[in-house]
Amino acid sequence: MILEAIPSSEKETNPWVSAEARFDEAAELLGLDEGLRKILRSAALELKVSIPVLLDDGRYEVFTGYRVQHSIVRGPSKGGIRFAPDVTLDEVRALAAWMTWKCAVVNIPFGGGKGGVICDPDVLSPGELERITRRYTSEIMDIIGPERDVPAPDMNTNPQTMAWVMDTYSMHKRQTVTAVVTGKPLALGGSKGRTEATGRGCMIVTLEALRHFGIDPINTRVVVQGFGNVGGMSAKLMARSGFKIICIIEYDGAVYNSKGLDIEALMKHRNETGSITGFAEGEDIDREQALLLDCEVLLPAAKENVITTANADRIKAKIICEGANGPTTSEADAILADKKIFVIPDILANAGGVTVSYFEWVQDRQGFFWNEQLVNGRLEEIMVNSFRDVVSYAEKHQVHNRLAAYMLAIDRVASALQTRGLYA
Ligand code: NAD
Repeated sequence: MILEAIPSSEKETNPWVSAEARFDEAAELLGLDEGLRKILRSAALELKVSIPVLLDDGRYEVFTGYRVQHSIVRGPSKGGIRFAPDVTLDEVRALAAWMTWKCAVVNIPFGGGKGGVICDPDVLSPGELERITRRYTSEIMDIIGPERDVPAPDMNTNPQTMAWVMDTYSMHKRQTVTAVVTGKPLALGGSKGRTEATGRGCMIVTLEALRHFGIDPINTRVVVQGFGNVGGMSAKLMARSGFKIICIIEYDGAVYNSKGLDIEALMKHRNETGSITGFAEGEDIDREQALLLDCEVLLPAAKENVITTANADRIKAKIICEGANGPTTSEADAILADKKIFVIPDILANAGGVTVSYFEWVQDRQGFFWNEQLVNGRLEEIMVNSFRDVVSYAEKHQVHNRLAAYMLAIDRVASALQTRGLYA
């Protein structure tokens, strides 16, 4: 993409601009060879497919899908498939590169990939979604596989979607190939602990950050944005470990209790009423102000671009644990660094999900399944080691944590590339 073509008002929030800015800064500090930069900036493979589908009302519709493999240098590419009306190739490309760095930070043997289908799941029936998924799978069939590219769920896709991908792939191969996707239902080769993995990973790295500062987790005040898989699970596990979750922010409101919210009661309230607002044991407060509350930990776990140049200088948290992908814009990074806020960057903080996806792939290939204790123990080992790798890299090179995570990741991928050499 030509950066000049993006209006300046949108540059701060464009995912590709953020991905490039961070790559460039890290590559510069690493003194990375210009040729290696060119290779690592480009996606290895980009596929655009047409997906003709018969709709329930008898009409034909043609959807567009993408699958991008950014890198396969350290292993098969790995990354989710999202269904959304506004999916773009730029977005899929940026997210694929993101996955390369994320897998390298936690040192699992995968490269990065991502897929997307332009469609609106809100207006499609389960049957239509199944037909889109199966036709998309058959169109990208030649480039996915346990040794090539292993998709997973992402926005608006779920374990059922993965079951359809696995089944379609398996029917073509004339054998059941569970390891072609992760995030599957347990009955079809999914892994125990996968649903909680991203939230659990966030809690593990937050505990490490508190240990780093000598802060007792008991009564540590946490503000969580997003009460879905990542935010909800992080809040639940943190509350069980003694943290005080003082505020939950959702798209329709924020609920606050200075003494700490009863997270499981709030989940029940949301299930019953459809909203976190109006919770008897909390006070409804302004969503924008909630991000600026005085607390030890802010955990953005909803969406991208919530910490920007418009609010970064007013954030009071000591630690930001990025549960979401891209919650901070690259322009806000410098403001947070100036304020000496300790950021656990997304490519480290939310890597618990892809780590347990890796465990799922390993278990499928072995045909031997682990109990939850083993999954959680191995996840903890990887998250703790990765946190320590990033923080010691940051201290050694005198850079902030995000830059350290990118430098570490780029260094690992570039070293693997150089050792393999170029096939010509
Ligand atoms: P989810 O859909 O389960 O939850 C997201 C929640 O955020 C929803 O409850 C939604 O209502 C809420 N939300 C949306 N917009 C909001 C806003 N403006 N303010 C406050 N709340 C808002 O999604 P998820 O799986 O929890 O993913 C959340 C983020 O974490 C995404 O950025 C995703 O890419 C990232 N992530 C998820 C995983 C995973 O394993 N699920 C792994 C890595 C990264």
